[in-house]
Amino acid sequence: MRKDEVRGLDHWIGGSPVAPGDGAYFESLNPIDDSLYSRAAAGTPADVDRAVEAADTAYRRNRDLSAAAREGWMIKASALMERDASQFADTLVDEIGSPIAKAGFETRFATSFLRAAAGVPRRIRGETIPSDAPGRVSMSFREPVGVVAGITPFNVPLIKGIKQSAMALATGNAFVLLPSEAAPRVADQLARLWEEAGVPEGLFNIVYGDGAKIGDALTGHPKVRAITFTGSSRVGRHIARIAAEGFKKYTLELGGKSPLVVCADADIEKAVAAAIFSIFMYQGQVCMGASRIYVERPIFDRFSKAFAAAAAKLSSGDLRDPATMLGPIISGRQRARVRQHIDDARGKGAEILAGGEWTGHVCHATILSGVQPGMEVAAQETFGPVTSLYPFDDLDEALRLANDTEYGLSAAIFTRDIDKALRFAREIESGMVHVNAPTLHDEPHVPFGGSKASGFGREGTEADLEIMTEWKWVSIQTDAAVGGAH
Ligand code: NAD
Repeated sequence: MRKDEVRGLDHWIGGSPVAPGDGAYFESLNPIDDSLYSRAAAGTPADVDRAVEAADTAYRRNRDLSAAAREGWMIKASALMERDASQFADTLVDEIGSPIAKAGFETRFATSFLRAAAGVPRRIRGETIPSDAPGRVSMSFREPVGVVAGITPFNVPLIKGIKQSAMALATGNAFVLLPSEAAPRVADQLARLWEEAGVPEGLFNIVYGDGAKIGDALTGHPKVRAITFTGSSRVGRHIARIAAEGFKKYTLELGGKSPLVVCADADIEKAVAAAIFSIFMYQGQVCMGASRIYVERPIFDRFSKAFAAAAAKLSSGDLRDPATMLGPIISGRQRARVRQHIDDARGKGAEILAGGEWTGHVCHATILSGVQPGMEVAAQETFGPVTSLYPFDDLDEALRLANDTEYGLSAAIFTRDIDKALRFAREIESGMVHVNAPTLHDEPHVPFGGSKASGFGREGTEADLEIMTEWKWVSIQTDAAVGGAH
């Protein structure tokens, strides 16, 4: 038995395991039956300070490393991720209840993100700029910010852990990760990956613990210059205030209530398959989940029947069976929330077209109809395998209903009419929109993120340069006739 299985995972600070300041460890449970999966250090504000100081020291020590060196880490890390994909997937199955198909999606995405990140270090370029002053040479550099703090959610801890840390390291920063309390072990595997990839000690650090207790010590630390957060809108709003107070750069990737619109001219079979994937993948615990589905009235009944029939067939068996779609809901608190949303809708008169029942910690794929504005499920993020079907009469109405939400993460429309599709893409209030495809999609180099309460800023190998680097304007006065007003 590994030492950490008896005691718990220690923080990873300055390239070594570091025991928590007050010696306490917390338990992380396997959501399939809430049995003990691992223990991890219950961090204190002093532990956070230690990690940030180690990161700051490492940043200064390594700031002159070449782009080629950073490129090398990314190339090595992508090969290691590919080599170790099954170990990472195993952890995702047992630690957060990922069906193996979703775990495989995470490991493949992580590999491809690391490959894309290998192209980043050599692309961090400045500009030469005409100057109004005769003889003045004017230019701009893009410099790293120093220490970047990353905070991950429970549902995609590998994708987000990789996105955040790879971009921080590729752009020349040091990184401190506060991983979701529900996913400490996958973070520990990440530390080993970066170490083996050759990242110098102190550039990648982890502090485990309860975000509500130690998060502010991290985001508010004066030496943390940028924050990349993925999680709920509630915590995101809190972090935005702290970032503003400290003049820090930040990206927020938050919750959603993403609409999928199916027009009467759509390929119904494809729309049903996309709806199934969009809301039931990883039992609906996905930020881009299509938790509102609008169907044009002439096909409403046909679509509803086909969708309910497909949902009833979804498998919720062995998480290691590639056919399994539905696994357990992550925690007692989240199970209570999903139950409450279904019960509240049922109690207030919604019809349950599929699901509504549970087997252990697994909620069956649930489709509601007749959902009214006063029901909790209408406006709030459920974060479970629950969606509501609504009829609409024309695109104006579909757009009005789809935009009637505080969120704006992803959206999708199924139609064969290019004019309708483009109008929807232009007028939907969301950061991402897909035509004839699920609401759920990500690629390493796209500007991923949401508007309204779904986020602030964008992430990806291009977009992250905005928060992970800082412009510096440099000018040199010369006696030569260069750079002046020609
Ligand atoms: P959460 O907000 O409860 O927790 C996220 C992280 O924040 C955890 O690591 C937690 O420890 C930490 N945290 C809590 N309080 C903090 C504080 N004061 N300061 C700093 N960190 C703090 O979210 P969750 O339940 O883990 O994840 C689900 C949520 O994440 C959903 O709302 C989902 O939509 C969202 N999400 C968004 C995206 C996206 O890319 N937009 C992706 C995945 C998940």
